[in-house]
Amino acid sequence: MKKYNFNAGPSILPDVVLEAAAKAIIDFDGTGLSLLSISHRTPEFEAVVADAKNLFRELLSIPENYHIFFVGGGASTQFFHIPANFLKGKAGYVDTGVWTKKAIKEAKKYGEVEIVASSADKNYNYIPKGYTIPEDLDYFYICANNTIYGTEYKVDLDSPVPMIADMSSDILSRPVDVSKYALIYGGAQKNLAPAGVTFVIVRDDMLQRVVRELPTMVNVNTHVENNSMFNTPPVFPIYVLRETLKWMKAEGGLEEIYRRNVEKAALLYDEIDRNSLFRGTVEKEDRSLMNICFVMTEGNEDLAPEFLEFAKSRGMVGIKGHRLVGGFRASCYNACPKESVEALVACMQEFEQMHK
Ligand SMILES: *Cc1c(COP(=O)(O)O)cnc(C)c1O
Repeated sequence: MKKYNFNAGPSILPDVVLEAAAKAIIDFDGTGLSLLSISHRTPEFEAVVADAKNLFRELLSIPENYHIFFVGGGASTQFFHIPANFLKGKAGYVDTGVWTKKAIKEAKKYGEVEIVASSADKNYNYIPKGYTIPEDLDYFYICANNTIYGTEYKVDLDSPVPMIADMSSDILSRPVDVSKYALIYGGAQKNLAPAGVTFVIVRDDMLQRVVRELPTMVNVNTHVENNSMFNTPPVFPIYVLRETLKWMKAEGGLEEIYRRNVEKAALLYDEIDRNSLFRGTVEKEDRSLMNICFVMTEGNEDLAPEFLEFAKSRGMVGIKGHRLVGGFRASCYNACPKESVEALVACMQEFEQMHK
């Protein structure tokens, strides 16, 4: 049976990317050797890293005064790398759920944390607005897309202090004004690659702002100076990331990908709003394009397990909501085809008919 992959992460990658990755495991770029069995310091692999950086810069329009590097450890390692490098006095965090709470917990080990705003009062179903970012912060921190709750910032904020963003689950899904940020980072396993590689985009002046003596691997300068090659980088995920970026460019670049994401999300949100059995969980203006959360309407809650089973029988994969929100979550990352969203919508419509 055809499967429609809505997994939240690790998640769907384009078929052509998987094919290229499979091939490289056997014969890496015509070297006659497996990608898994070569030195990362060969010219062929150095070209992959250079390519990945160039494509990243081109697709996201990253200005010249920003560095890009790839490193292991996942986004969760950056939760402490960021305060270790940049927090001396006080940092400001917007609390939008699990991923910022984890980042806040780590930051508190290095300095004072001010919660500038929070949406905890409504189980994180919106993005806080209308606050002022204090000027006495070492940096201001947000999570751009809250994978678990399905909320997403729709504007690049103006911050009087360096702004840092976790873009693990919406990187390269929409245009971003990179110049508004001092540092953007994320685990690549949601939209770009298999698990194992983290991307960091850092503005040049931040390299002089490191506030303490640090272990070499923790210092941001190490990875910039050594071009992601201080130690053995995650070779395979970086290769796949490069292939995903090539795919994005061939598909028409970020503008076209964004257009598709808007189209897919509209299809599904329209059905959620129309269908009498389902409702959205997030304030409409903050709805994520990537992680689309919904539940059964009041009085129909008991139908949730039946809908999950029904959707599964129609080939839907990964639509069970996170336990903190319940209900359903369809993650519609870049590689998720419109056809998958149409299949889910059809499934919801059929389910509604069955319960008329
Ligand atoms: C998945 C996720 C993380 C955690 O990433 P790891 O690479 O597993 O550490 C952090 N932030 C956001 C927004 C995520 O979606």
